[in-house]
Amino acid sequence: MRPSLIVHGGAWDIPDEAIEICNSGCHSALEAGWSVLSRGGSALDAVEAAIVVLEDEPVFDAGFGSHLNLDGRVECDAIVMNGGTLRAGAVAALQRVRNPIRLARAVLEHCPHMMLVAEGAERFAKDNGIALCDPAELVSDAEREAWRVCSQDKHAAAHHRGHEQGTVGAVAIDAQGKLFAATSTGGTCCKLPGRVGDSPLIGCGCYADATAGGVSCTGYGEAIMKIVMAKTATDLLRTHNGGFCVAETSRDSSGALPHSCAADTAMHAAREAVHLLAKRTHATGGLILLDCEGNPGFAFNTPRMAYGYVAPDGSLFTAV
Ligand code: ASP
Repeated sequence: MRPSLIVHGGAWDIPDEAIEICNSGCHSALEAGWSVLSRGGSALDAVEAAIVVLEDEPVFDAGFGSHLNLDGRVECDAIVMNGGTLRAGAVAALQRVRNPIRLARAVLEHCPHMMLVAEGAERFAKDNGIALCDPAELVSDAEREAWRVCSQDKHAAAHHRGHEQGTVGAVAIDAQGKLFAATSTGGTCCKLPGRVGDSPLIGCGCYADATAGGVSCTGYGEAIMKIVMAKTATDLLRTHNGGFCVAETSRDSSGALPHSCAADTAMHAAREAVHLLAKRTHATGGLILLDCEGNPGFAFNTPRMAYGYVAPDGSLFTAV
């Protein structure tokens, strides 16, 4: 199977001056993930590699440079999900983990549970060889300044506008046809300590089912949770494909797939899920997805979303 990869760096009102850095961040993430997939590596390694790059880039709201909570601390959430087994590894309310996606993967692979939070998650990190950092190491100068301005005016909503979001995500299919999806975030600006949004919740901010596709969401978490957006988008893929993976239903006698039809399906499902978010919750957000054949889909109802995918000819496409 031809590998596929799609990434995002959040749907929000990305200002003109941040476009270049968002584009180059998505490009670097695609390069990292694609270097794994194009050498025959696994989709799990690819989504992890792509997300680590995005977490390390402070323009995005994940890992270093995440938005600060009301107490002025970074608190991160992340998830990775295996579309073959439907098993996920999720972590939330982390204050001392530089790359939350690495810990989410450790939960996926080494934990009997599917989600760990706060001190328990950080203890699991230590026990599994993931170093803990000083919380201050995750705070960027830009976010410290944004928090200072917010706190001077009782955290009035107006201050958050323009830098509310920037969650990151990735979905990959490898040459073996294995599908993984992942999402990582610092959550919303000046959130209450302990608040967990959609991002690390299975079916809300992320979902993967190899018989339909994989999804990573971004946007206002409290609304995304209401429509269980990632699972909803996965179900829409299935609906548009007549209930099954295109691979199972649409091969002609030569075994070929109707790729243009499937590509339409992927975009259509993405748009419908975002439309539902707007219609039922009046909120904004976006998502990326791959259907089970690797066709990319994306949609957002924010002014901009940072995203990118590997085109069928192997070239890397990014847009904001
Ligand atoms: N969905 C994230 C949250 O609510 C924020 C985002 O996507 O930017 O935590």
